[in-house]
This record gives sequence, C-alpha cells and structure tokens, in this order.
Amino acid sequence: MRDLWINNQRTSGSGEPQPVIDPATTEVVGQVAWGTEVDADRAVAAARAAFKEWRRVPAAERAGLLHEIARRMRASKETLAVELTMETGRSIRKNRGYVEWAAECFDYYAELGRHHRGRVIPSPEPGQLSLVLKAPLGVVAAILPWNYPLLLLAWKLAPALAAGNTVVVKPAEYTPWTTLGLQRIFDHLPAGVVNLVSGDGPVVGERLARHPDVRMIAFTGSVETGQHLMRLAADDLKRINLELGGKDPLIVCADADLEAAARAAVWGGFLNAGQVCTSIERAFVEAPAFEPLLERILDLTRHLTIGPGSDPESEVTPMIRPQEREKVIRHIEQALEAGAVAHTGGAIPAEPDRGYYYAPTVLTEVDDDMLLMREETFGPVLPIVPVDDFETALERANRGHYGLGATLFSRNARRVKRYMETIEAGNVWVNDPLIDNLAGPFGGMKRSGLGRELGEEGFEAFLETKHLHWEIEGGVKSWWYPWD
Ligand code: ADP
Repeated sequence: MRDLWINNQRTSGSGEPQPVIDPATTEVVGQVAWGTEVDADRAVAAARAAFKEWRRVPAAERAGLLHEIARRMRASKETLAVELTMETGRSIRKNRGYVEWAAECFDYYAELGRHHRGRVIPSPEPGQLSLVLKAPLGVVAAILPWNYPLLLLAWKLAPALAAGNTVVVKPAEYTPWTTLGLQRIFDHLPAGVVNLVSGDGPVVGERLARHPDVRMIAFTGSVETGQHLMRLAADDLKRINLELGGKDPLIVCADADLEAAARAAVWGGFLNAGQVCTSIERAFVEAPAFEPLLERILDLTRHLTIGPGSDPESEVTPMIRPQEREKVIRHIEQALEAGAVAHTGGAIPAEPDRGYYYAPTVLTEVDDDMLLMREETFGPVLPIVPVDDFETALERANRGHYGLGATLFSRNARRVKRYMETIEAGNVWVNDPLIDNLAGPFGGMKRSGLGRELGEEGFEAFLETKHLHWEIEGGVKSWWYPWD
C-alpha cells in the first residue's frame, strides 16, 4: 500500500484505497491510498505554509536540493523504471531512459534557477532605479496524465520548485504508484514543498483547480479537461499551462531519405502503442514516394514484436486500459466502413493472449472527414495518404484544430524553410521526429494547448513579474496636486 504524502508525512487519505493494474497482465499489482477534497485542502494548506520559507531559500541552496532530487532519481533508476513499466505497460528499456531524462530535467532547472535574474531598465529620470523583478507565484497544482507519469511530473515540478513555488501533485487515476513512491526522492525538501495526492480528477483535481490558494494550474491531459480547467481558472484568474492533445502530421517529400522516413514513421506512430501526445497520427506522402514508402512501412510493421514492456525486446507494448482501446477501435471501424483499407492490424492481436494490446495498424484510402484523421486516436494507428505535391501536404497537415507537433522528411532547404514558417505546430521537427530538448520549449498551438513547458519559457511560466520604480531621493513632483 502506498500512501499520500502531505507536509512530508505519509497519510492514508480519506478515500477508498484503489488498485493499481498492470496493463500487460490485467492483474492488480498494488494498492494505493486515495485522496478526496479534504486531502486536497490539507495539501494546499501545507504548500501554502511552506511557500513562506521556500520562496526565501537562496537560489544556490535551492539548486543543491534540486540536484539532490536528480541524484536520488538516478540512484533509483532501475526501481523507478520497473515501477513505471508495471503501471503504464510501456517498455522497460524506454523507461530507464525516461528516468534519466526526468533527472536531467531537475539538473537543468536547478541551474536555470541558480542563474536566473531580473534586469535593470532605463529610468524615466536621473536619480531613479527601475528594475524588472521576478517572483514565484505561490502554490502550483500539477495535474498529470498517465502516459508519462514521471517525465511530465519533472517538466512541471522542476521549474516550479526552481522558481520558488510549492507544489501539489495529482497523478492520473491509472498511474499513481510511481508518483506516490517519490516520497523517498523528495523527503530532503522542507515539509510541504512537494505534496503528492492521488485521487479522482473530478474530485481531487477539480478541488485543486477551484482552490483559491492555488495560484497556478500546470496540466497535461485531454482537450476537454483542459478547457474545463481554464474555465475554473477564470474565477481567480489563476495562471494556467495546458499541454493537451495532438493529431501530429508527418510529411514525406520524394527527395527525403525514404528508409529513414519509413523507420521514423513506424517508430513515431507505434511508440508506447501510440499513446504519446506527439506520436505521428497522420502521414502525407508525395505521390512518387508513396508506393515504396508504404511497402517499407508495411514490411517494418509486420516484423514488430508485440509484447509486455517488461521484455526489453518488445516493441509494441499494451495500451493502458480497454476503454482507451475502445476509442481506437471506434476510429478504425468508422474509417473502414467509410472505405479505408487496413494493410496490417485493425484488430486485437491473438498473442499475447492477455493484456490490453492492439495490433499496429497501417491504413490507406483515408480522407480528412474520418474521425481517424480529425480526432486524436492515441493508439498504434498510422493512416498514410498520398498527396500530389508539397503544398497540398502542408495545407492538409494544418487542417483541424490541433497544433502540437509536426515532422517533415526532406533534404530540400527551400521546403524546410517553407514548412517551418507555415506549419501550425509548437514542436516542429525535420528528419527526426519526437525529439524533446530540455532547453527547447514544448507545447501546442490551437486546441493543443496554452503556454510552454521546458526551456526558459517553461521556467517563466512559474514566475510573476514585478516592475519596480524607485525614486531614490524622494521629493515632490511638479505634476502632483495641487495643480500649479
Ligand atoms: P486522459 O484522457 O489522458 O486520461 P484527462 O484529461 O481525463 O486525460 O486526465 C488528465 C488528468 O486530469 C488526470 O490526472 C485526471 O485525473 C485529471 N482530471 C480529469 N478530470 C478533471 C477535473 N474535472 N478537474 C481536474 N482534473 C481532472
């Protein structure tokens, strides 16, 4: 049983304990304490009390405490990777990498916080000093999704703490295990600086979002929940960062390295069973490259190893829950009824005979009206569309209301320039999809989100700005009353 962590104390939470399910076996592999509104309130109160001191901790000291988080994560790398695989189903091989990235994120923001500074700006008159000062916001609510529980926690927690905020973390319902276990990674911090509260989104998440003492909501999840949270944030004008869904396009030009494009399409489409917000969800291929590319993609897809994340050889791992798989099935069925052709997959695989798998599916004969091409599918599905020319590919890639990531495969500099200027996406990749960079801001346009995580933007998001004007000598100004 794993407990909540509030004010550096383990607490059982006032809800009914909940099971943790391994998507590869569908078995219950653990129990976690479950919070309700009362626990959310207690966590916010602890974070609020801790903020008074934490905001005054010198930057160098804070940096040291963040580096210690990174050190502890690395020291627990194998345990954390195994736990992540157990509750998310994803590959142990990848999870080892994600633990390292999460640790690096704490190292990165430790240093950014250490070196961050305001600035001196020109004053209106001599004898004055004008400064731009940065200040932490206060209590931040970090509301997390289930696909990358540790990495996306790090993207929020590291900059929030480095900026001097205190945080209440709410993991997703499916993946509380690793997050609650992080108590051991955070117990060197002053009490109340980090609080971990599992619970239902509409209960604990909602309470945090409505709480008047929460100054910012940092959220990754669905568009619908993001929209709802933004409406709630409006009541107190809370700051809000939203990282929502995507329907990321891949454009392959005939001049591209087609072997690289095929391998990238398969990897970018099926990684983590397609349950990545920036996975490739639509591919547009210039007509001359279409047949050879499709053939190669099918060949690669047919040779993928479907299996549990605990086996390092597994390439396509299970989906998180049957409900999520149902959405994928719905998208595919609707597309097939409307004339799409599935060349691989299109079904639950016979093997493994347990776990929430879906076979990697490559489709053609799709059109932009199909759900599969409009809404986020979030499964191992890759629709491929031939297009007459590059401009058509760009135009179709920009259709729809998402704008998270996009990838172009081309070696033509003119096309790359046209693409980077035209594409409506926050994460723009050329010949190398799904690359995140701690220094590179991550986020979406249109309904894919608001604000950015990572980079300097992802640090600024957790800071308030003050403009200070100081008349050093003082004295009466000619424009004050009484009028002269
Ligand atoms: P997904 O479809 O990826 O599960 P959700 O948006 O439903 O995305 O969930 C993302 C996170 O948002 C989870 O931690 C979930 O518990 C939380 N959540 C869901 N509904 C609400 C809500 N009404 N208020 C606050 N948080 C919520």
